[in-house]
Amino acid sequence: MSFEHFSLHPHIVSGVDSVGYHTPTPIQEQAIPVVLARRDVLGLAQTGTGKTAAFMLPILDRLIRGPRGGIRALILAPTRELAEQIHQATVGFARHTPLRSATIYGGVSKRPQLDALRRGADIVIACPGRLLDHLREGDIDLSHVEVLVLDEADRMCDMGFLPDIRQIIRSVPARRQTLFFCATMPGDIRQLAQNILHDPATVQVDPIAPAKTVSHALYPVPETQKTNLLLALLKRTATGRVLVFTRTKHKAHNLALILAKAGHRATALQGNMSQAQRQAAIDGFRGKRYDILVATDVAARGIDVTGITHVINVDVPNTVDAYTHRIGRTGRAEHAGEAFTLAAPADSLMIRDIERAVGTAIERRRLEGFDYGSFAPETQFAPKASVTLPRAFRQSSPRRTEGALYVSRHRAAPRAQSA
Ligand code: AMP
Repeated sequence: MSFEHFSLHPHIVSGVDSVGYHTPTPIQEQAIPVVLARRDVLGLAQTGTGKTAAFMLPILDRLIRGPRGGIRALILAPTRELAEQIHQATVGFARHTPLRSATIYGGVSKRPQLDALRRGADIVIACPGRLLDHLREGDIDLSHVEVLVLDEADRMCDMGFLPDIRQIIRSVPARRQTLFFCATMPGDIRQLAQNILHDPATVQVDPIAPAKTVSHALYPVPETQKTNLLLALLKRTATGRVLVFTRTKHKAHNLALILAKAGHRATALQGNMSQAQRQAAIDGFRGKRYDILVATDVAARGIDVTGITHVINVDVPNTVDAYTHRIGRTGRAEHAGEAFTLAAPADSLMIRDIERAVGTAIERRRLEGFDYGSFAPETQFAPKASVTLPRAFRQSSPRRTEGALYVSRHRAAPRAQSA
């Protein structure tokens, strides 16, 4: 199937062509016809599935065919990075149209954003907090909005934006098309969707479970040895672009310095950095100046960098949703990726929850040759579900402990079988 199939306006089809998309992804196949038919949509899709084009292409089609005037589409996104990314994609898709897009988010000066609005924006992509500031100050008129999109609605609620979102919704016309995207559906999100969507069509691509093209591995390790294990893993794994996650801003900052000192082209992305520093880090990672980006969950939300080969969780995320979002950064648009999680004994409950959500046990690995001291990785995290190992691993006689599956990795030289 090609993008011609949807009968989008020819100027939009040529925009899609110019960004290099030739075949629609599954979410695009499902959502584009429904949005073109002007129905509300409840989209269950994680980042990396192609959902931006899934909503933006039919929106552009609607806008180009109708009379211009005022802000006609409003997209709400949780972070500046995601807002900027949607904006960049929109500029590409709309290249051959007169339609203009502008962004509104905090952490930068208001003036350039207001200037862009005054020059005339058909589409506004905004983070809720700053948009609400502008609404309160009377700087922005949302009375012409025909289409409202909530992207990563679950993230926005996690970040405490729900009251802001409710207020913004009161400022847009009740007669509108609403498109609601989330990766997970906790109770408050379901409630919000029910309240604001009218007879929605549900489109769903791999909800909740992490991207299928990602293979997962768990490296049990004491908390104090995580940095050393990370360094050893990076040394012995053929990685391309690596996204490393830590739980705190401070740790992201320090770990990036340690990696850089060890000779890696690494930088940090965390909330204590200015917007300009964050953008420089993302651009440097995207432009291949850095191979490793060490990030916190909030800072990394919505990063769209293609070709991430490995996501390494140095700290286990606090929630299953956060795991899903982190892992969604690799294996994007159907490329393969690997996700490693370094887990200390104290993480066992979270690991169990993640495995329950993923629906299978995550393969346990021991980095052969790494000095674990008296720690025995194979005794940690006995998985609840049984896992069938690929034949290649079975032939190399993985060590097994009661109920746990265990594979030695990166074996430097043949070694005696221990089980
Ligand atoms: P998204 O989920 O919208 O953030 O998209 C994830 C990644 O897939 C981005 O790098 C997009 O540029 C890319 N992408 C989206 N749709 C397509 C497509 N139809 N063909 C190729 N790449 C795509």
